[in-house]
Amino acid sequence: ARKIVVKNPVVDLDGDEMTRIIWQRIKDQLILPYLDIDIKYYDLGMENRDKTDDKVTLEAAEAIKKYKVGIKCATITPDNARVKEFNLKQKWKSPNGTIRNALNGTVFREPIFIDNVPRFIPAWKKPIVIARHAFGDQYKSTDFEVDGPGKYEVSFTPTGANEPSMRKTVYDFAGPGVGLAMFNTNESITAFAHACFKMAIDRKLPLYLGTKSTVISTYDAYWDKIFISLYESEYKSEFEKAGIWYEHRLVDDMVAQLVKMEGGLILALGNMLGDIISDLVAQGCGSLALMSSVLVAKGDKPGEFIYESEAAHGTVTRHFRQHQQGKPTSTNPVASIYAWTRGLIHRAQLDGTPDLEAFAQNLETACIEAVKGGIMTKDLAISIHGNSAGPDTYVTTDEYIAEVARRLSALQASD
Ligand code: NAD
Repeated sequence: ARKIVVKNPVVDLDGDEMTRIIWQRIKDQLILPYLDIDIKYYDLGMENRDKTDDKVTLEAAEAIKKYKVGIKCATITPDNARVKEFNLKQKWKSPNGTIRNALNGTVFREPIFIDNVPRFIPAWKKPIVIARHAFGDQYKSTDFEVDGPGKYEVSFTPTGANEPSMRKTVYDFAGPGVGLAMFNTNESITAFAHACFKMAIDRKLPLYLGTKSTVISTYDAYWDKIFISLYESEYKSEFEKAGIWYEHRLVDDMVAQLVKMEGGLILALGNMLGDIISDLVAQGCGSLALMSSVLVAKGDKPGEFIYESEAAHGTVTRHFRQHQQGKPTSTNPVASIYAWTRGLIHRAQLDGTPDLEAFAQNLETACIEAVKGGIMTKDLAISIHGNSAGPDTYVTTDEYIAEVARRLSALQASD
């Protein structure tokens, strides 16, 4: 059959271990047979990052800025054991952190729901997308121990001034204790808000911002102030056209509601709440292997956005060790496949190519229908049948990908 022409390139960021093996099979069996596509390849595998003094990661980030779509395989973030294992020149930083900083983006995590895979929170049926503002707050705070009675003050001195323009007493300590001072910036919160509004429009889901502004009445309320003003000035009409809305909610009410609702929303949260609640949602959904993740950042031109999509899980080292011993593994490739589909959907929307978008949607359908049809990897078989899931309940990675390829080919033929 004729291949679908992808008008502009996508950036492929290769990774490590089991996910690197799977990455190649996805390209060979599910992507390249169907697409006439210019792939800009960057090898972020551990060896090449070390060889290039991690320059390859920065070059890949620049390429994502240029082409607007990055599709990333899971990568090793080295610890001391990895430094030894790979004989690294140094303990290189997490590529995800490097890319996020270079793009100043927001990470959205979204579980992939499949009807027959049980969830710890069974009410959830529709997407629950968590947006974490991964900048500032507690994670960049200054904290300290107080060893006896005394006054803890904060002050702010404007650039150029000799005297503080603001000085406040935080607490008069009568004995030992602890203190913490934190900050955020208008620029970062604004970028976060734009990414959230854009994601809501793309996914056609309502956007909720969760804060504790009743108690933290200046700091937390600052987020809502920025969100509501951008909503009114730039996004309201587009939201109304799509039948969605923006609302600010108290985070405690929001979480209480979240466990009862079907889902179908984007929830924007500050750094610490986002960290905690995204893990809660991931666990509530059951499987780490069914969690997709996309980094959204504003491009150079107004209204232009950059996407980098990936699986939320790591390189599945345990399975890679078996693979190295020549044993077949049953590693779940679904989130890695979704890294490709979500990246390609963004490419299709930027280029105005509905045939590419339909292809990506068919590939997602093929993944889901295969599992519904009983062909799945071991992690999903265990969540359905429990730890006693026998070998007749699951297939190997290769067998699963082959089943997805069969279903994709049928779906493409019928379109
Ligand atoms: P991991 O996500 O690879 O594995 C955690 C657990 O979940 C393991 O028990 C694993 O077997 C299981 N699991 C994860 N994905 C699975 C899948 N697709 N199919 C079946 N089972 C799956 O995390 P880890 O073991 O903590 O880390 C391994 C390596 O991955 C580390 O070097 C770490 O730095 C890296 N890592 C990378 C990313 C990323 O690139 N986004 C994220 C997390 C960890």
